Amino acid sequence: MDKLAYIGLGSNIELRKQYLDDAIEQLKAHEAIKVTKISSIYETPPVGYLEQGPFLNMVLELETSLKNIELLKVCQAIERSLDRKRTIENGPRTIDLDILMYNHEYRELEELILPHPRMKERAFVLVPLNEIAPERVMPTSGKTMEELLLDLPAKEKDAIVLWKEG
Ligand code: ADP
Ligand code: MG
Repeated sequence: MDKLAYIGLGSNIELRKQYLDDAIEQLKAHEAIKVTKISSIYETPPVGYLEQGPFLNMVLELETSLKNIELLKVCQAIERSLDRKRTIENGPRTIDLDILMYNHEYRELEELILPHPRMKERAFVLVPLNEIAPERVMPTSGKTMEELLLDLPAKEKDAIVLWKEG
């Protein structure tokens, strides 16, 4: 378990919380993955395609002995098991698992881009990342999660609210 990775989770089809929980359980059950940190859950407005309900988003830190592509395959298998369909781009989904960072790796091959190309513009990623890993430096930008978050407009950060069940 010598690699440190951050995964972003999102769901906007009910039961949203159940999909997040199921994805976390599947990651925890994997013999080559140890989930080391779990952020709070945040409710966030949709980005890009706006005709859809709000998301629940969170991020996880994990240690793994999987290679980067192997970890992507595990994430995609979990998405499939939770009935993820790819219809509308940026559209509604039961669950989305994105690899945000994998160690300090930088790569630009289409099937897996590291760090995740849009993470530094997304308040729904940076707010939970700043909660569990404020000092972590993003490869390529050289900035910490805390610094990246400071760069975002207050309006975007204010839209990311802590979610409580019930
Ligand atoms: P999005 O997450 O942008 O809404 P998808 O989940 O459908 O879209 O992913 C589209 C493609 O993005 C996947 O087929 C995957 O190979 C690719 N991809 C590239 N970089 C990453 C990454 N860092 N994490 C997850 N998927 C990635
Ligand atoms: Mg994705």
